[in-house]
This record gives sequence, C-alpha cells and structure tokens, in this order.
Amino acid sequence: MPHSVPASTDARPPRPGRPSEVARRKRRVIIQMIAFAAVTGVLIVIVMVRRDQQSVEQCRREAHAVAAALRRDALESRTLPMNLPIPPARRAHYHYNPVNSMFFGGGRPVGLCCCASPHRLLLAPNGRHVVLVADDRVEVRWLSEAEFQAHKAGWQLQPPVIR
Ligand SMILES: [Zn+2]
Repeated sequence: MPHSVPASTDARPPRPGRPSEVARRKRRVIIQMIAFAAVTGVLIVIVMVRRDQQSVEQCRREAHAVAAALRRDALESRTLPMNLPIPPARRAHYHYNPVNSMFFGGGRPVGLCCCASPHRLLLAPNGRHVVLVADDRVEVRWLSEAEFQAHKAGWQLQPPVIR
C-alpha cells in the first residue's frame, strides 16, 4: 500500500525558520485586536470632539440670545432682570451678574454673565463665553480659560469655582 500524502499542507510540521499556522493565527488575531482598538479610539475621539463642538455652539447661541435680550436693559433702562432671560433649566450653565448695571458707561467693560465653568475641550484650549457691556455695546466673546482668568476681576465676573 502506498504511503498517503497529507491532504493539507497545514498538517505538515513547520519548517525551521517559518512560523507555524498557530503562530500566524495568533499574530493575525493580535493585529485585528490592535486595529479594532485603533478604530474604536478614533471613533471615541470623533464623538468627543463632536460633543465639544455641539456644547460650545449651543452656549454660543444662548450667549447671543442673552446679549440681545439684555441689550435694551443694560444700555437704556440700566437695570437688569433678576434672572437670565433663558429657560430656567439652562440658567445653571451661566454665572449671572445682575448688579453690575451701576458700573455701565464707566469706560471699562463690565461682565453681565459668563459660563459658570469652562468648556473642557479635547482638541482646543478650555474656554468660556462672556457677555460684556463694552463701549456702549453688549457683545459676546469667546475666551480661553487663561484669558478669562486674566480678565474676570476687571470685568467684575467672579463665578464660584466648581470642582
Ligand atoms: Zn458655556
């Protein structure tokens, strides 16, 4: 009876210097795991950056709405409402400074409100929106946290530190 030849080359013992099928499979699984982790990491970064952008954009729209609503109060009647003119559920996002109307028109910018805590951003410096009365205009500025810390006392904005 003739000697039978193995049906698959996989059944042959590995030649010296060549990885066995088990080693190749192991390497393939490791490469797939690394690729999966890398893709997952990139997706997480994309989701976090998108979340940051949406948060800042919502805040920017609200800050402009606040500036528009307070413009007449601050520049004409020089009395500000007790609460920010935004939905109550969103008021905690901001530090409001309604007592500053006595300082309007003094030639120095006065802060009406700012984000109560900085937006913590993944790919950009942390920052806040600030609504100011400056040069007889009510304006919205985006400041890095370092810029905000440098200006907040001069603008009479002292949000409590939230940890
Ligand atoms: Zn904000």
